[in-house]
Amino acid sequence: MIQTKAYAAQTKETDLAPWTFERREVGPHDVQFDILFCGVCHSDLHQIKDEWGGSIFPMVPGHEIVGRVVKVGDHVKKFKVGDLAGTGCLVDSCRVCDNCKDGLEQYCTNGHSQTYNGYEQDHKTPTYGGYSNTIVVHEDFVLRISDKLDLASVAPLLCAGITTYSPLRHWNIGKGHKIAVVGLGGLGHMGVKFGVAFGAEVTVLSTSAKKEEDAKKLGAHHFVVTSDPEQMKAVAGTFDFILDTVSAEHDLNVYLGLLKTNGTHVCVGVPTKPAEIAAFSIIGGRKSLAGSMIGGLPETQEMLDFCAEHNIVSDIELIDMKDIHTAYDRMLKGDVRYRFVIDMATL
Ligand code: NAP
Ligand code: ZN
Ligand code: ZN
Repeated sequence: MIQTKAYAAQTKETDLAPWTFERREVGPHDVQFDILFCGVCHSDLHQIKDEWGGSIFPMVPGHEIVGRVVKVGDHVKKFKVGDLAGTGCLVDSCRVCDNCKDGLEQYCTNGHSQTYNGYEQDHKTPTYGGYSNTIVVHEDFVLRISDKLDLASVAPLLCAGITTYSPLRHWNIGKGHKIAVVGLGGLGHMGVKFGVAFGAEVTVLSTSAKKEEDAKKLGAHHFVVTSDPEQMKAVAGTFDFILDTVSAEHDLNVYLGLLKTNGTHVCVGVPTKPAEIAAFSIIGGRKSLAGSMIGGLPETQEMLDFCAEHNIVSDIELIDMKDIHTAYDRMLKGDVRYRFVIDMATL
């Protein structure tokens, strides 16, 4: 077994603290890579606080993982020692259901293995994430990472990147579309970058007036402060598509009113409480309310390759492991610019 150093939450009430555990030995199809950087997703915070229910403790969060390969199994074809590698929110799935066969492992009908706060496919071995020094993953769930981009800034692509790329691709967003991104945080700022890269006209809808300049620097064409009724009235009925990345309770009916006829509002944010939707918010204008979860392995690789080609990375603040709680506090206040990434050398 491989002794692994980590930061873990022992219960939902306790702060993260140093912890050690064992990872499995490298099997014939496994890749072991040492973790150099790990992004901090709002889902880490939701799960260590058990806000969605069913959290498994001890929990080692982290699913935006990049590093360098240190060992490969005898049958591994995609990687060799010394390569860069990455793992996102998934470490395995059943591989035989229709969704897995279609490369939609995130929707595995037999239950995928999430990178942490989940179980391996034996349904009993807990998974531990990227706030740790090394990881062992089946090669099919390890992504190739370009050496052209800044590695720390690539880490958030593994969750924030794919979670925004996938719905924009699925709904064929591009030239001629007016889209809005709600919430300028980790996911939101990647949504802006991809929306702009795909040719759409992008508006940021934010609660934080002070983020306007940043939004424009990220490429957004317009910025609306959602607490200003005049600004909201001016964009009513104007969007083809809304990408909602908000992590906390908010009134979806307000945003549905900003869609054009046949427009679609896609939720990727996961607030704790269920939303209340008035039927009138969607029947007038034949509107769709939809959701999307991360992305499958083929699409995640496609997104990483697209980013390498178009020089797209996340805007990050690099932090030491010990400062994780300060980062969480700032995240809760919406003060993320625009993704915290842990330098795992500080573990
Ligand atoms: P984040 O960096 O904290 O960004 C969330 C943003 O939402 C904030 O920066 C803020 O932007 C806005 N916001 C916060 N509270 C709000 C409120 N009460 N009303 C309106 N806006 C508010 O979080 P993240 O890492 O991007 O994650 C966002 C959500 O997506 C989380 O719930 C996370 O669990 C979820 N998620 C889902 C998937 C998926 O597969 N669907 C994957 C990853 C994460 P402004 O300051 O601009 O208002
Ligand atoms: Zn995430
Ligand atoms: Zn499956």
